[in-house]
Amino acid sequence: MRERLRLAVPNKGRLVEPTLGLLHASGLVFEEHDRSLVARVQNQPLDILFVRTADVAEFVADGVADAGITGEDILAEAERDLPVIARLGYGRCRLAVAVPSDAPVRAVEDLAGRRVATSHPASTRAFFTTRGIAVEVVPLSGAVEVAPRLGLADAIVDLVSTGSTLQMNGLRAVADVLSSEAVLVAGAQAGEERPQDLERVVLMLGSVIAARDRKYLMMNAPATHLAELEGLLPGLESPSVIPLAHPGMIAIHAVVGADDVWGLLPSLKAAGASGILVLPIEKILP
Ligand code: AMP
Repeated sequence: MRERLRLAVPNKGRLVEPTLGLLHASGLVFEEHDRSLVARVQNQPLDILFVRTADVAEFVADGVADAGITGEDILAEAERDLPVIARLGYGRCRLAVAVPSDAPVRAVEDLAGRRVATSHPASTRAFFTTRGIAVEVVPLSGAVEVAPRLGLADAIVDLVSTGSTLQMNGLRAVADVLSSEAVLVAGAQAGEERPQDLERVVLMLGSVIAARDRKYLMMNAPATHLAELEGLLPGLESPSVIPLAHPGMIAIHAVVGADDVWGLLPSLKAAGASGILVLPIEKILP
């Protein structure tokens, strides 16, 4: 049994910055020496292994790492049956089937007998096979979006976030293969050998993720307006109500969804709230 838990994370690409941001925000203290292979976490029995995003699942499945962070699309491609133990809320994208904008293709069925280029061959094959559509999959390691223009394929299956890359390349999406975000996966051995260490890491990361889409609202109001204000504030639990030095006045504190704040503020003011403060939350432990 290893002395310290090992977490494999991407060393290159678009998942690196948000992953390191999450680990630091979770309170893990470590230094990245130019993303050399291993960073020792100073305040937890944890080592961070920096590997290629595409290799994270392999490291975890083989037991070289106990847990790992990668994209769901890559996990599906790796075809290793690893349990997702937390969804991390960043690296959101979808794997989509796209064709040249002027192609007479309405639905994926119209691609029967055609060539489909992709860097996600396993997910692509699974998608078309499940639907009983016979296509020729052309595996590519990059620059998938130029394949139709080069005459390499009639369609592509590629990652899309805003759709602007598709548009720039004269392509349009016809169907989604899967949607993806960054996830934390764990190997069986981690739960068996170091269940508490793994649980702590999950809790540390989860508390930051939970806090990211919430805000802490503080406001003052006449005590007689409490019922009306409380009705507007669907929080984690019931709001905290604190009497103020000024008789008949109270402070109300509540946790609300970050996306709800701007919709709520006018109603709160109309219901008698004043001195409203909106604060970020560092961590939430349910
Ligand atoms: P990269 O290492 O930069 O090629 O991307 C690694 C992962 O980032 C992908 O496998 C996806 O899980 C995720 N990702 C999020 N948005 C996008 C996007 N628009 N294009 C490509 N990958 C994305």
